[in-house]
Amino acid sequence: MEHKSVLIIGGGIAGIQASLDLANRGFQVYLVEKSPSIGGRMAQLDKTFPTMDCSMCILAPKMIECGHHPNVKLLTYSEVKEVKGSVGNFKVKVLKKPRFVDESKCTGCGICSEKCPIKVPNEFDMNLGMRKTIYMPFLQAVPRVATIDKDNCLLFQKGVCEICQKFCQAGAVDFDQQPEEITLNVGAIIVATGFDMFNPEQIPPFGYKRYKDVITAMELERLLCASGPTGGQLVRPSDGKMPKSIAFIQCVGSRDRREWINNAYCSSICCKYAVKDAVLIKEHDSHAMITIFYIDMRAFGRGFQEFVNRAKAEYGINFTRSNPGEITEDPETKRLTIWFEDNVTRTVKSLTFDLVVLCTALVPRKDSAELAKTLGIETDNYRFFKSPDLISRPVDTTVPGIFACGYCLGPKTGDIPDSVTQASAAAARIAEVLAEVTKQ
Ligand SMILES: Cc1cc2nc3c(=O)[nH]c(=O)nc-3n(C[C@H](O)[C@H](O)[C@H](O)COP(=O)(O)OP(=O)(O)OC[C@H]3O[C@@H](n4cnc5c(N)ncnc54)[C@H](O)[C@@H]3O)c2cc1C
Repeated sequence: MEHKSVLIIGGGIAGIQASLDLANRGFQVYLVEKSPSIGGRMAQLDKTFPTMDCSMCILAPKMIECGHHPNVKLLTYSEVKEVKGSVGNFKVKVLKKPRFVDESKCTGCGICSEKCPIKVPNEFDMNLGMRKTIYMPFLQAVPRVATIDKDNCLLFQKGVCEICQKFCQAGAVDFDQQPEEITLNVGAIIVATGFDMFNPEQIPPFGYKRYKDVITAMELERLLCASGPTGGQLVRPSDGKMPKSIAFIQCVGSRDRREWINNAYCSSICCKYAVKDAVLIKEHDSHAMITIFYIDMRAFGRGFQEFVNRAKAEYGINFTRSNPGEITEDPETKRLTIWFEDNVTRTVKSLTFDLVVLCTALVPRKDSAELAKTLGIETDNYRFFKSPDLISRPVDTTVPGIFACGYCLGPKTGDIPDSVTQASAAAARIAEVLAEVTKQ
């Protein structure tokens, strides 16, 4: 029955949407997600532009539907290791990493995390908050199953503790769990592995990590989010005080041809999310002074230019067309001065802020070349997955029967609606291609 079975790699919004579309058409879907929960980046966002809907309120029902759908088998904390065969008959090996918690027994009550004595930085909160060593990545995680982070667990590292096991009434903690290899037969595959964020330490004059109050936009998303490390209070990391003046710098690592960066492309969503976050800050504190430093405003798509116009007219957000070159910090006040070339007057100027947000490029996943090799598909010059015909088959890859959707195909409009559209397109292509294969 492999013609009715499909593998989807990556459980962000694109992978979730493709899974639901195919499952609702009667396909058996195997959704492989590398991390302990599906959800992807959308789960980390506070609100989504341009409607300002709560991101999780849209995502969580889809995650739950995916988790409970009779035609979807979730393989979380898992990775694809080998793919053989061709359209209509792929043989896939998946490695399921040990969580050290039995998925069939864990009730997701959270008592194990409460009792665990070890705290480590929480990657879901961009390391701005802490989590326990036995944890669920976030409240709405699917599946609602805890995972033990072996590298930081006292039992695995020092041979003492077992507190989580003692308090687990469901008897789900299993320190002897082993990696499991699962073999699947599927007719087609969708890759939906999304993106990583550019590391702004590669541009030392911006002082990221040297200056505490220079943060990235994804860090800001977590600081603005009610479920984030500060309960939604925007505070300066250096002193915990509310910033009164905030700057956004666009195109950090995007449209940058410098040899060691080599990202000539526009990441295509940063202008839109910067305006969204600026408006959100204004809604938290109407007195905040906000300036967006930009090369040119690329807020394309339905309703976006109107959104930018509102940001200027209704919220009083300043837009400065310029190339910031350097940020310096006052050692006493920790205030940050941005030195920039004003592209209109062609003069060097400076402005001082309490907090600076770097809108960093969206780049291919670190392991995208390796995954492309496993699947036999090609990547473009930047390591995004390549479509052989961007005009008439935009979600195909270079291998028949393997499709792609979402940001792993590189920036198009790059946003959530675009990812969902591509996901539905990839699902429709699978239905079409497998129907053809079945006829033969
Ligand atoms: C700061 C910021 C703010 C944004 N704000 C908005 C907004 O307001 N509105 C909007 O429309 N868009 C916004 N976006 C864009 C939005 O985040 C993306 O459009 C969306 O997340 C793309 O979804 P995706 O499923 O393609 O990728 P992702 O969300 O990255 O999901 C990919 C999933 O695949 C998994 N994965 C990766 N590699 C593997 C592997 N090898 N095997 C198995 N699984 C793997 C990942 O763990 C992840 O769960 C924002 C982006 C950023 C950076």
